[in-house]
Amino acid sequence: MGNPKAFLTVPRKEAGYRPVHDRIHDFGEVEQTLNTKDRQEQASRCMDCGVPFCHWACPLGNRDPEWNDALYHGEWEKAYKILKKTNDFPEFTGRICPALCEKSCILYHTTGEAVTNRENECAIAERAFLEGYVTIEHPERNGKKVAVIGGGPAGLAAANQLNYKGYEVTVFDKNEAAGGLLRYGIPNFKLNKKIIDRRINVMEQEGVKFVYNASISLEKLAAKDFTGENEIIQGFDAYVVSTGTPEARDLKAPGRELKGIHLALELLGQQNRVLAGMEFSKEDRVTAKGKKVLVIGGGDTGSDCIGTSHRQGAKSVTQIEIMPKPPVGHNDSTPWPNWPVILKTTSSHEEGCDRRWLLNTNRFIDNGKGHVKGVEVEGVIWEPNPEGGRPIMKLDGNKEIIEADIVFLAMGFIKPQQPQFPENVFIAGDAASGASLVVRAIASGRKISEQIDAYFKK
Ligand SMILES: Cc1cc2nc3c(=O)[nH]c(=O)nc-3n(C[C@H](O)[C@H](O)[C@H](O)COP(=O)(O)OP(=O)(O)OC[C@H]3O[C@@H](n4cnc5c(N)ncnc54)[C@H](O)[C@@H]3O)c2cc1C
Ligand code: SF4
Repeated sequence: MGNPKAFLTVPRKEAGYRPVHDRIHDFGEVEQTLNTKDRQEQASRCMDCGVPFCHWACPLGNRDPEWNDALYHGEWEKAYKILKKTNDFPEFTGRICPALCEKSCILYHTTGEAVTNRENECAIAERAFLEGYVTIEHPERNGKKVAVIGGGPAGLAAANQLNYKGYEVTVFDKNEAAGGLLRYGIPNFKLNKKIIDRRINVMEQEGVKFVYNASISLEKLAAKDFTGENEIIQGFDAYVVSTGTPEARDLKAPGRELKGIHLALELLGQQNRVLAGMEFSKEDRVTAKGKKVLVIGGGDTGSDCIGTSHRQGAKSVTQIEIMPKPPVGHNDSTPWPNWPVILKTTSSHEEGCDRRWLLNTNRFIDNGKGHVKGVEVEGVIWEPNPEGGRPIMKLDGNKEIIEADIVFLAMGFIKPQQPQFPENVFIAGDAASGASLVVRAIASGRKISEQIDAYFKK
């Protein structure tokens, strides 16, 4: 621990976002960076706790106190080496992780000001690329071949770790590039796609192969059928299924068939593709330009729809949520170590949005030409369930119309039912757990790589 009193004298300082008027017109990353002195000062706040709850809370087991100490002392290469041991992609999590470590940080619980672990992590990763600490490794091959199906963070982490263990790894993805939801879900203003390209480039140089536009049938894999689209995955010694949660939760209210109602990823995936240079016809283009936008779903995906709509030039944006508005700052009903359910105001919310809670969507309203022009919503009351478990929802009879020219459904994803696979097939990431977080996907990919290694060594 470098500075034993820093947590008393140095306040938490976040780099913050670019000003709204500056960022709202482009898809560049909104988050800024601190200068080196401030960054090291932030790292100095870490108290090197005897029982570091940050480390315990991180699905990767990141050793925050150790790399914070190295960072404080300006030992950037050492900090990166410690970080790399537990996290394959700190440049991703450093940008978009909700930082479970910070919600467990002792300073968060005592002063409300956690160590800026996420930003510190990002700074270390970026310095590592800048200064050349990210070196290319050429592991000795062990003669075994593994196919990774799905190149999101789980598949990439599994591929990376297996490659380091000596396996010959090929990643197959149905998309035209790797990254999964990092690339075709999370907007560029949160994660610039060059960050993904840079890492894929390192992995390729280290020997991982990538095959794109390759949609693999999991049913056929389960049946050991290597015909048709599965011909290209024949002959591998083991398989990782890291195909995520492809099915979004839909809203089956009357009028759902109207034009102008889209699943969130139809907007987000297409916008990221447009920014990558892909072209779409006017009919196929999903855009909020000049429109009144309604986002149904109050979570992070909904928030990403808001930020994207602003950048496309929306006239207005409203977000509705069926659950109650969470309290600000602290929630007695979700004490640590639970995840604190508190009001989250993202950079996208800051850019302007009417946020409303406790509203159910009754029906979508036709403009007379088969296009949505609004949504009928009704207030809800949540009553305690006498049998315990999830509270019971009741409609309160207060109906109103929210005008909308375009609606985005951001209500989560359905956990996939996987078939019974042969014993050399391993499931990782959201495909195994249901929709989760990037950090958990990376952790799952790493764990699967160990299981595969153990499978061959048993
Ligand atoms: C809009 C949005 C924003 C999010 N923001 C955040 C955030 O800020 N922070 C955070 O931590 N998490 C966030 N998440 C969650 C996070 O992105 C996921 O938990 C994570 O990407 C899961 O990783 P994965 O590798 O398991 O699956 P995915 O990222 O979904 O990757 C699955 C991959 O498998 C491929 N695939 C699927 N089926 C096949 C097939 N049959 N054949 C070949 N390839 C196939 C897909 O093309 C895809 O590339 C967000 C999710 C969404 C939708
Ligand atoms: S809990 Fe907070 S202060 Fe303690 S070691 Fe972890 S990051 Fe540092």
